[in-house]
Amino acid sequence: MDSILDKKESLTPITGGCFCGAIKYKINGKLRDARSCHCPDCRKAFSAQASAYALVNSEDFSWISGKNLITSYESKKGEGLLFCSVCGSTLCGTYNGVIQGVTLGCVNGAPEIEIGMHIYVGSKANWEIIPDGVIKYQKGAPENV
Ligand SMILES: [Zn+2]
Ligand SMILES: [Zn+2]
Repeated sequence: MDSILDKKESLTPITGGCFCGAIKYKINGKLRDARSCHCPDCRKAFSAQASAYALVNSEDFSWISGKNLITSYESKKGEGLLFCSVCGSTLCGTYNGVIQGVTLGCVNGAPEIEIGMHIYVGSKANWEIIPDGVIKYQKGAPENV
């Protein structure tokens, strides 16, 4: 009985969407490598003290509704973000136009993921207090983490 339940739960896609509800997506797979970046660029891009972001396999990701309302911004390095043009929620990160990850703030419910590391804490905002006990790096994550 328990094993049937576990299997069913693991097959339920992760869903997410924007603040106004126009844009919805699902992920037929897992979130991975969740991290929070405290650099000034991420603070601006996520309108928050830091990013909260997890990687997905792009082939697992699909839009349910509102795809026509998506707007995007891409940096010269090819890193981009997708937004809702109605409410402004930041939904996804892209690389050269391909979806690479999702913002955890727009994921619905309680997905099986935890932020594994805090990066660029050396350039965090002076008003932010990062709790003790979290894994943190002054700059980016070391290789092979
Ligand atoms: Zn919206
Ligand atoms: Zn950053």
